[in-house]
Amino acid sequence: MKTQRPKSAPHHKSGMRRLWSTLGAVLLLFLVLVVTGVGGIIADKVVFYARVAKLYTEPPDTRLAMPLADVSSKQIANTWHAPRGTGRLHEGQDIFAPKGTPILSATDGYVYQIGENNLGGQTVSVIGAGGRVYYYAHLDSYPPGLSEGDHVNSRTVLGFVGTTGNAQGTPPHLHFGVYTATGAINPLPLLTDRPSSVLSKTKPKDTKAKRSFVSRKA
Ligand SMILES: [Zn+2]
Repeated sequence: MKTQRPKSAPHHKSGMRRLWSTLGAVLLLFLVLVVTGVGGIIADKVVFYARVAKLYTEPPDTRLAMPLADVSSKQIANTWHAPRGTGRLHEGQDIFAPKGTPILSATDGYVYQIGENNLGGQTVSVIGAGGRVYYYAHLDSYPPGLSEGDHVNSRTVLGFVGTTGNAQGTPPHLHFGVYTATGAINPLPLLTDRPSSVLSKTKPKDTKAKRSFVSRKA
């Protein structure tokens, strides 16, 4: 009977050794992931998806800050659902301004996508409350350091007005679109002018003629 204890002790020890070596391997893997940055990327993705999931639970914005500080909503020629070529309707509004004018986010949210496509040229998409996606297109350039996943608010510069994509050959403008789960909606009734203190900061001189221009394509 007494001989059982010495026998069980080594067995228990080897079990503990296995446990420790497993823990060691997990720790080593974790360290490798952290050192290589992979762990950080995975953690960032998880945090980003958690934030986006939270946005879906919030009611969508009923007021959107004008993306171009100097433009009033009255100056926008309503081109919502205007025909654009064969069978395509204009799914947004065009806001005209000199090339290089900073584009400010209309909402709080997170940068969802930064990318180029044939129609939009250089574009930035921001996901906001209610899971709505705000689409900024024809950008001349992006601000340095802007990345997908970045938190933005109505003071964040997302890019600069340009003529990329199918806006080539038209006066520089921002194409602004708002997408819900069921499709695009007209942004114009939601757009709210920025305070006049911001409006008076930079006064462009040559935009009157350009603003009255209604793009046939973009
Ligand atoms: Zn457009």
